[in-house]
Amino acid sequence: MKLQNFINGAFCDPIQKDWIDNYNPSTGAVYGSIPNSSQADVAAAYKAAAGAFPSWSSTTVEERSQLLSKISNLITAKLAILAKAEAKDNGKPLSLATAIDIPRAAANFQFFANAITQFSSEAHESLGKNAINFTLRQPIGVVGCISPWNLPLYLFTWKIAPAIAAGNCVVAKPSEVTPLTAYLLGEICQEAGLPNGVLNIVHGLGKTTGQAIVEHPQIKAISFTGGTQTGAHIARVAAPMFKKLSLELGGKNPNIIFADCDYEKMLDTTVRSSFANQGQICLCGSRIFVEQSIYTKFKKDFIQKVSELKVGNPFSENTNVGALVSKEHLAKVKSYINTSEEQGARVLFGGKEVSVKGCENGYYLSPTIIEVSTNDCVLNQEEIFGPVVTIMPFSTEKEVLQYANNVKYGLSATLWTNNLNRSMLFSKQLQAGIVWVNTWLLRDLRTPFGGMKESGVGREGGNEALRFFTEPKNVCIQY
Ligand code: NDP
Repeated sequence: MKLQNFINGAFCDPIQKDWIDNYNPSTGAVYGSIPNSSQADVAAAYKAAAGAFPSWSSTTVEERSQLLSKISNLITAKLAILAKAEAKDNGKPLSLATAIDIPRAAANFQFFANAITQFSSEAHESLGKNAINFTLRQPIGVVGCISPWNLPLYLFTWKIAPAIAAGNCVVAKPSEVTPLTAYLLGEICQEAGLPNGVLNIVHGLGKTTGQAIVEHPQIKAISFTGGTQTGAHIARVAAPMFKKLSLELGGKNPNIIFADCDYEKMLDTTVRSSFANQGQICLCGSRIFVEQSIYTKFKKDFIQKVSELKVGNPFSENTNVGALVSKEHLAKVKSYINTSEEQGARVLFGGKEVSVKGCENGYYLSPTIIEVSTNDCVLNQEEIFGPVVTIMPFSTEKEVLQYANNVKYGLSATLWTNNLNRSMLFSKQLQAGIVWVNTWLLRDLRTPFGGMKESGVGREGGNEALRFFTEPKNVCIQY
């Protein structure tokens, strides 16, 4: 299967006819190729987007809303095809892609189809000066959207939908390791009748294709989700050009468990928040802190529950944990596990590659629980982004707050307690963009989404995204 770029409403080969292999992580086999796009392909995508902008930015909000709804409906109609593509490309269980990834991609378009009809700006009357100020929210022009491999269509559409809803035209790049659903989105946009050039999708490597988007002098805003190091690099490139930047980066999120929690709910959710999507979600709670009085019980029960998870072929119905996304990523995750002993940590469960019958060359790793003795170790300080969690006991609120905040990241935090005062205290003091109390990954698309510290700059979601993708202009009229 040979994928193509989607530029100006048509599929086309990369100009230099250069291709990259695309792997199926569940078997380790190459199953297709994707364009290794160059600067020239990005320039062509920009040209198409710039050509479409005058007309797209002057469409009515109703027209845009209807088109976004149409795209959403088509994603839902093609759910089975898209979910299979996502499972094959990423290695995630088909059940997860069917229940979460693809419905969320449809929801992203539907949400912004609605949100744009409700988006409004402020007016300020300057009393005594006979003047009225109002804010125009105008689309920026051509914007760049760059997304990672862990939730491919889910995160790709989370950027594209608000960008085009607000009247921008887009040059977008999915991760090179998970290009398939982005390719299929091009077909869906054609079918929905999205005007040519409004969305352009270029495939290729981050360091060349992605870099060309970030460096393009006329692409005025970049919405990026990915690793912290890549985010820092993008910021360095974009800052001298004064581009608007939204950076959603890595996380090393604490999961804090007090003895007074609803234990069974906490246990089930903690299994999910640790290992959903093979632990490859930026919001996974990878550092688990448990109140001393229930530590031994938790350890035993958690290991038991995790041992029941079935690692297997993403296409098997009873698979809970699929394949990691790539050979390189598997090696990286294993290299962290292998340093456990020298860090004074102990692998309590897992830590080994799993051979799956019929998929012997796939990238499977058993869910891994590591007991650490300090929060300062590498295992607790660096993002592993795989099916690996650490556990550690604590005695006091003050102590665990320190552990939770003593990390360079600040994306999300989960707290388990039935004490209202403690919930409020921790919600205020945790250094994280998102705090979940007695739940995890319960999302409402109207809320601000993003991180503090090295987890990013800016917020996505609801009006935050529409604000990012528009330029506010103050108009002052004296009468
Ligand atoms: P990367 O930072 O490696 O890549 C993200 C995207 O950026 C990919 O499309 C990549 O292309 C591209 N890219 C790489 N280098 C450049 C460059 N120089 N210029 C422009 N684009 C570039 O992240 P991963 O794909 O490995 O994703 C995992 C990371 O994403 C984790 O750190 C995770 O925490 C984070 N993440 C954050 C989320 C959040 O909302 N905060 C949500 C989900 C993930 P290519 O793949 O082709 O190299």
